[in-house]
Amino acid sequence: ADAGRQCGEAVIYLDNAATTPVPAAVADTMYDVLTHHFGNPSSQYPAGQEMKKAVEDWRAVIAGALHCPPERLYFTSCGTESDNWAIQAAIWQGRHTGKHIITTAVEHSAVLEPCRWLTQQGYEVTYLKPDRAGRVTVEQVAGALRDDTVLVSMMLVNNETGCIFPVAETAQLLRDRKSHALLHCDAVQGFLKVPCEPEVWGVDMMSLSAHKLGGPKGVGALYISERFRNVRPLLPGGGQERGLRSGTEATAQIAGFARAVELRLTDYDAKIAHMAALRDYCRERLLSIPGMVPVAAGTAPHILAMSLAGYPSANIVTDLGAQGICISAGSACHQGKASHVVSALGLDKRTAAGVIRISFSPENTETDVDALYEALKAHQAARFPML
Ligand code: PLP
Repeated sequence: ADAGRQCGEAVIYLDNAATTPVPAAVADTMYDVLTHHFGNPSSQYPAGQEMKKAVEDWRAVIAGALHCPPERLYFTSCGTESDNWAIQAAIWQGRHTGKHIITTAVEHSAVLEPCRWLTQQGYEVTYLKPDRAGRVTVEQVAGALRDDTVLVSMMLVNNETGCIFPVAETAQLLRDRKSHALLHCDAVQGFLKVPCEPEVWGVDMMSLSAHKLGGPKGVGALYISERFRNVRPLLPGGGQERGLRSGTEATAQIAGFARAVELRLTDYDAKIAHMAALRDYCRERLLSIPGMVPVAAGTAPHILAMSLAGYPSANIVTDLGAQGICISAGSACHQGKASHVVSALGLDKRTAAGVIRISFSPENTETDVDALYEALKAHQAARFPML
């Protein structure tokens, strides 16, 4: 709650999988870069060279959190850009091998939309369907893998259910089968929430985004493994990011990303335990509301999916929003239609209609959850179920 109020709004912010408030220390760091250290890292005089070194220092902070060498990380403008780049790079790499892609039916649209475009260019995409609990298994990948598969793209944590997907096992499978396919992992929701070890697991590419962990919007990163050579540049140009992603470095954004990572790493275990405890507390409290049911078996510490069966989630979100309580109806819930993730779970109509996502930051408290509980009870008393 406090972090939300730092933003100047008296809101109870329980939608941290959508974006997170930027702590004052992160904003201060960015302000300092914008005003006092505005040099271009490509400039040869000290104000430029100072920034060139600073960008490398910030890269090292984020790489440290991902347990990879700094030169494996490339800055991008967002998670969406990282996902698009990874997919483009993989299909370029595999252009003489085949035109088959494996992904899951519940990826973020930053993966699904590029895949849809590729189907129009002759690619075949296999979408692994989760079970009712939201789980995807490595056996499903094994069953779909072919000689002409050039890319497997699997997220680490699903943004709507909090389910953790078997990324390490999939990397092992690709090795065991001596597959040519590259493995991309969208870790936008997983980084600094659950174990995330691209180097140990043997993932080829991994996408990150700053604004899901207290950093600013508009900056992300792509991890690219050393094994993956001759990566197709995303933006050919002035040669920044070792020639692969040109464009003057967004120094203030990158500084904010690194500062946010440092803050999250302070007392990291305690923060994760706090979020997991809040998630459990929230699940228990909400389940005492008649008609409230759990959705999926997500185990990420920061995401909880529930359903107030029969009560359209769009109305819940709007009603609660008017009272200053921010939750989500699922990231792609448009005009009352269930999101693709909710649809893929195969829930009955009443349960699907009422799916809400509550997502936590380390700053949330039990008081926030209590306020949510009261507001949901009031919503139920004031409205009739539509289904
Ligand atoms: N991937 C996942 C799983 C996400 O949850 C999001 C953000 O909602 C993205 C990608 C996109 O990240 P960005 O907003 O930085 O483009």
